[in-house]
Amino acid sequence: MRHLLVFDVDGTLTRTMAIDGRCYAQALAEHLGAPVESEWSRYRLVTDPGIAAEAFERRHGRAPRAEEMAAIRSRFLSLLRATEDPVREVPGAAALLRELHGRAGIVTAIATGAWSDSALWKLRRAGIPVDGLAIATGDDAPSREEILRIAMRRAGPFARATYVGDGPWDVQASRATGVGFVGVACDGGAGRLKAAGASTVLPDLRDVDRFLNAVGL
Ligand SMILES: [Mg+2]
Repeated sequence: MRHLLVFDVDGTLTRTMAIDGRCYAQALAEHLGAPVESEWSRYRLVTDPGIAAEAFERRHGRAPRAEEMAAIRSRFLSLLRATEDPVREVPGAAALLRELHGRAGIVTAIATGAWSDSALWKLRRAGIPVDGLAIATGDDAPSREEILRIAMRRAGPFARATYVGDGPWDVQASRATGVGFVGVACDGGAGRLKAAGASTVLPDLRDVDRFLNAVGL
């Protein structure tokens, strides 16, 4: 039976936590006219739409309208596209996805809290092959748990599933949906993943055998 491997994007497949966080915080701060909390784990829903909605509510005392969310998203995208910083993969990510693609009994999918245009831009820039993968993003739901569920539905039937992520919120989403979890911490963060309950944390995705062993294959 098929084993489904669902990957987060930022910090898991693409080494973009810093670029992404900086552009996102700037877009939000510009729109709100005030600095924003950039310790993302302090938000209820740690996704692009979840954080934007909560920061907006904290500032204005009401939920953002669709056009206000669209303006934040659009500004974030243009800041991201204008970045001169290199957009790199997490070491080994592209090769690992290619390797998994060819293996019998394994299905891969993507579940990210990023908005789809941001996620696809980062994946393409980092050279991560995503053609044909089931993908669920922040466009689908503001809750990561729900995004993970949608990605699993889109990936089709499976006997076992594992979520591969880099944030404590990813550990929480995997627990809430009852799937396994493997952490990736290529820029530090192993400690906070373990504190959140992750039993296995890899330093990157270069060692295919170690990865397969971590997910129980
Ligand atoms: Mg991430």
